[in-house]
Amino acid sequence: MHRGFVVSSFALIFGMAAGTSLAWPDSPAPVGQSPTDALAADLHVHAFLSDGVLSPFGLWWLAKRRGLDVIAITNHNGVTGGKIGARISKVLGPPLIIPGQEVTLAQLHILAIGISSTISTKLSPRAVMAEIHRQGGVAILAHPRDRAIQLLIAESAAPDGIERRNRDDDPDASALDRIREQAHEGPIFRAANSDYHWLSSLGYQRNLIFADSASTRAVIMALRQRRVVAVDSSGLWYGDRSFVARAPSTKMRSPSSCAVATSRDALTRLCAWLGVFGVFAFRARRA
Ligand SMILES: [Zn+2]
Ligand SMILES: [Zn+2]
Repeated sequence: MHRGFVVSSFALIFGMAAGTSLAWPDSPAPVGQSPTDALAADLHVHAFLSDGVLSPFGLWWLAKRRGLDVIAITNHNGVTGGKIGARISKVLGPPLIIPGQEVTLAQLHILAIGISSTISTKLSPRAVMAEIHRQGGVAILAHPRDRAIQLLIAESAAPDGIERRNRDDDPDASALDRIREQAHEGPIFRAANSDYHWLSSLGYQRNLIFADSASTRAVIMALRQRRVVAVDSSGLWYGDRSFVARAPSTKMRSPSSCAVATSRDALTRLCAWLGVFGVFAFRARRA
């Protein structure tokens, strides 16, 4: 047997075994134990059927491993992945998966959390938000850029929430004030999501939602009433101080443990994929 084939087979088996052992929850996840206290949520997650690598079931499992109580599957311009996820969590229990969509407009991306039908990308930002609300959902401005914020101010359109920027800085308070003054809206909540596509960043920063129960309805209601705080990867909190004081530390993983998991996870995946390519390449050579 070709030596390359044997080495590749070992790499594949090792990568899969090590990756699977890493995927096992290292401690019993506090999922759903005290849903009325606070729900740990990542509200910006991609599955396949869009440009995410994991299936809705894979995301359900990874969310459980990360101690998340809620994720929203927000595929680009389609709600099907989120709906499949919602069914999975209905059958298997927590973590709860809420269907959503990332509405990808030319200048800005808007997360539609808790909707049931796909929203057109031909609408204006203001019309997109109106449609999200008509479907009973919540609108969050994703990874905001200056141009997106200026556009919202020009359109007098205010989202319910806004993600903290992917850079280290934060959308400055004056920009948020200008958006809501222009749109005559109430406070805009701050969200910290992972925009998960692949590897293991899911839940590396997260939101704590103070909902009455762990149901889609209760989560949406809590978001509308701004009963939410966000914590980023540096452990910085955003949101109402009184909620921050109530936020249980058990719902927040230390960012460093997530970072270690990410690099180990990347290595095992790389090992397994190299194994797959090697097995096929050397098999062809043998034939
Ligand atoms: Zn986006
Ligand atoms: Zn995204």
